[in-house]
Amino acid sequence: METILVLLHTEAGAPVGKAGLEVLEAARGLGGDVAIGLVGADCAAAAASVAGAGRLLAVEGEAFAQPRYATDASAAEALVKAAGAGIVLAPATSRWARCLPGVAQRAAGRIDTHVTGLNDGTLTRWYYRQRIEASLRRAERPWFLLLEAGIGPAYAAAGAAGAAYERVTAEPGSRTEAKGVIAPQSGEQTIKPEAELLFVAGAGWTKKQKDGAVHMDRAAELILGMLKGSGASLGSSKSLVDLSGEGHAVLPFLSHLNQVGQTGSTPRHAKGLATCCHGEEPHVVGWRFIQDRRAVNLDANCGWARGKADVLYVADAFEVMEELNRLLG
Ligand SMILES: Cc1cc2nc3c(=O)[nH]c(=O)nc-3n(C[C@H](O)[C@H](O)[C@H](O)COP(=O)(O)OP(=O)(O)OC[C@H]3O[C@@H](n4cnc5c(N)ncnc54)[C@H](O)[C@@H]3O)c2cc1C
Repeated sequence: METILVLLHTEAGAPVGKAGLEVLEAARGLGGDVAIGLVGADCAAAAASVAGAGRLLAVEGEAFAQPRYATDASAAEALVKAAGAGIVLAPATSRWARCLPGVAQRAAGRIDTHVTGLNDGTLTRWYYRQRIEASLRRAERPWFLLLEAGIGPAYAAAGAAGAAYERVTAEPGSRTEAKGVIAPQSGEQTIKPEAELLFVAGAGWTKKQKDGAVHMDRAAELILGMLKGSGASLGSSKSLVDLSGEGHAVLPFLSHLNQVGQTGSTPRHAKGLATCCHGEEPHVVGWRFIQDRRAVNLDANCGWARGKADVLYVADAFEVMEELNRLLG
């Protein structure tokens, strides 16, 4: 039977992230021998949280705490060898997405990225910005797959404190030293991939309103109030983030990382609410995986009205958000 290795790195706050537990559940459904390869400074808590799901292997030590190409690649390479893996699955975290293509090359294997489904040895993924879905299999081994977050249920860890795991040695040598972290956004963290709701702000928030004036400060208050009250993740249209990026005093908490769409991100949330956003195709294509889509727009003929939203509220978003924030307390 083929060995399926699931690569997981430890994370601040939780021993194993939700995306990792989703990959583990997907691996268990494939019908091979599951091995789990852990990487981190100390893997005891991570091992305890996934104990019982498969053979436990770990590369641990201070050198493997920091995300870094050289150490992550050498840890993954050692784990693949130790497990004798034919298939290697990992969540598409920035850490694994950066180093696994190189590890596949070292192992003379193949890699597929942005995998959105895995069934009976066949993967599915999207091409051309979520417009074409492909199914494919590969005969080459080891076959590495980077799975997108949110595409399946997470492994419901039973856990076992003090679970034993096999230590694997990897080359810790690296010329790269992490000196600190510079976050792309200075303010509040507005991108929350695991939130139930995606709240999207469009360029309409910056346009002249019915009194003939723009109300940027009020717009910022309403948007931040909504995020606080609902715990939603903040998305944006390209027009609005472009304005913010051009040095205009627009909405300081927005960056290009918030942009949803063809040239932006394709988030996965159960619900989405677009406000002051027209619903142009290059924006809406990023909403492919949002299950319930709603929009608030003054224009009854906006893009959302043409089959792109489940519900369109033809209304003034300033008034709607005022009331919504009041209800959210
Ligand atoms: C190759 C290419 C790639 C692109 N990629 C992306 C992408 O990744 N993401 C993206 O977003 N765009 C992308 N675009 C741009 C896209 O086509 C649109 O121009 C953009 O999404 C429009 O942004 P918007 O809806 O915020 O602004 P606008 O088109 O200016 O719409 C503003 C809306 O706000 C409404 N409004 C104003 N005031 C109120 C109010 N008080 N209450 C309610 N509604 C109000 C207006 O009725 C209007 O519909 C791309 C374009 C191209 C050509």
